[in-house]
Amino acid sequence: MARFGMAIDTKLCVGCMDCVVACKTENNVPEGYNRDWITEEALGKFPNINLEIRSERCNHCEDAPCVSSCPTGASHYHDVGGVVLIEHNECIGCKACVASCPYDARFIHPDGYADKCTFCIHRVEEGKDPACVSVCPTNCMIFGDLDDPNSEISKQLNSRKHHSLKPEAGTNPKIFYLT
Ligand code: SF4
Ligand code: SF4
Repeated sequence: MARFGMAIDTKLCVGCMDCVVACKTENNVPEGYNRDWITEEALGKFPNINLEIRSERCNHCEDAPCVSSCPTGASHYHDVGGVVLIEHNECIGCKACVASCPYDARFIHPDGYADKCTFCIHRVEEGKDPACVSVCPTNCMIFGDLDDPNSEISKQLNSRKHHSLKPEAGTNPKIFYLT
C-alpha cells in the first residue's frame, strides 16, 4: 500500500502563490480561508542568512494529533496512501482537531465542519497530481509514494538534504523541504 508524501524544493520555490490560488479554485475554499499558504523564514546567523520560502499545508502526519483528538472519528487516515481526511458528515465542529494541530493547518468551514488540505485525493485517485503540484511554474513540488524506492520523491529524499516542520512535536510529518 502506498504512503503518500510531498517533497518541496526550497531552492526552486519563488513564492509566486500559484499553488495557493490553484488550491482555492480546485477545492472551492471559501473566501478568507486557505488550505495552503506561503511562509518566508530567515534561517542561519548573520552574515550567513538564508531566506527559505516554503509552500505549507497539512503535513498528513503519521502520528496525527488531529486524528487522535477527534471524538467522533471524523478525522481519520484514508485507506489510500494514509492521507489524513475529514468525514464532513461525522464532524460536529468541536474544534478539538484545530486546537491540537501544531501547524495551524485546519479551520472550521463556514458550513460548520473542520477543513484542510486533502492532498487533492480526488485527483490522486484519478492518477493526477494534487492541484498545487500540477500548477507550480518551477516544478518545486514532488508528490508520491514514500514507500516506493523508485518514486521520484524517494530518490530526492535519498539524495538531498531535507527537513520537516516542528519535528519536536512528534507528529511524523509527511511533507519534506529539500534544502
Ligand atoms: S498537519 Fe495538523 S491537520 Fe495535518 S495531519 Fe498533522 S496534525 Fe493533522
Ligand atoms: S471539529 Fe470535527 S473533525 Fe475536528 S475533532 Fe471535532 S468532530 Fe473531529
